[in-house]
Amino acid sequence: MRIAVLGTGTVGRTLAAALGALGHQVVLGTRDPGATAGRTSPDPMGGPPFKEWLAAHGGIGLGTFAEAAGDSELVVNATNGAASLAALGAAGAARLAGKVLVDVSNPLDFSQGMPPVLNPVNTESLGERIQRSFPETRVVKSLNTMNAGLMVDPRRVAGGDHSVFISGDDAGAKTVVRELLESLGHKDIIDLGDITTARGAEMVLPLWLRLFGVLGTPDFNFKIVRG
Ligand code: NAP
Repeated sequence: MRIAVLGTGTVGRTLAAALGALGHQVVLGTRDPGATAGRTSPDPMGGPPFKEWLAAHGGIGLGTFAEAAGDSELVVNATNGAASLAALGAAGAARLAGKVLVDVSNPLDFSQGMPPVLNPVNTESLGERIQRSFPETRVVKSLNTMNAGLMVDPRRVAGGDHSVFISGDDAGAKTVVRELLESLGHKDIIDLGDITTARGAEMVLPLWLRLFGVLGTPDFNFKIVRG
C-alpha cells in the first residue's frame, strides 16, 4: 500500500520504518523537506539526526505534507497534537478525501507547564476535531495509548499480550486499520465505537504519563482483562 506518514518525530520515523519493512511504499510528510532532510542536530529522544536516519532508510520518501498525502492510499497522522489540524490542512482536504487516516496524535497542551493537560478533553477529542474538519476522510483513532516502539513491535512487552484501541465512524476504515495493526503484531484490538470514543483513548494519557514517571520506562502498555 502507498502510505503517507505525516510527521517526522519519533512516531513518524518509527511507523515509517516498520511499515516500509512490511513492504509498503512510505513517504514521510513534513513542513519543509529540505530543512528536515538537512537536520544534523541529535534527535531529542536519543535517535540519530534525521539526516542520518533518512540515509539509513533509503526506501522511505520525504515530501511536504501535501506531496506525501497526494500520492497515498492511506495516511497516518503522527504530527504534534497542537499542530495536527494545521498539518492536515497543509496536506489538503482534497488529498485526504476518501482515505483512511490513522490518527495517533495526542492533544497534549504544555502551555501551562508540566505535566501537560489535554486540550480538547471530556466533551471533545482531537480525533473528533480532525474528523469534523475533514468530513470526507475516514478517521480512525488508534495507537496513541502506547509508545512508538510498542506500536510497531508489541511483542517486546509481555509477548504482545496487551491491548490497543480503535475509534471511528467508518466500519470499512476500521477493518483496514485492524488488518494493519495485526500486520504489526497486535492481537487484542478493541473497537471502542464511533469517533467520539477517541475521548476515552486520549484521556488515558494523563495516566500513561504518570506511569512513565513511576515505572521509569516507556515500555509498558494497558492490558484489558475480561471477566
Ligand atoms: P512531535 O514532536 O509531537 O511532532 C512532530 C511533528 O509535528 C513533526 O513532523 C512536525 O513537523 C510537526 N509539527 C510540529 N509543529 C508543527 C506546526 N506548527 N505545523 C505543522 N506541523 C508541525 O513528534 P512525536 O513524538 O513523534 O509524536 C507525534 C504524535 O504522536 C504526537 O501527537 C504525540 O502526542 C503522539 N504520540 C507520541 C508517542 C511517542 O512515543 N512519542 C506515543 C503515542 C502518541 P516537521 O516535520 O515539519 O518538523
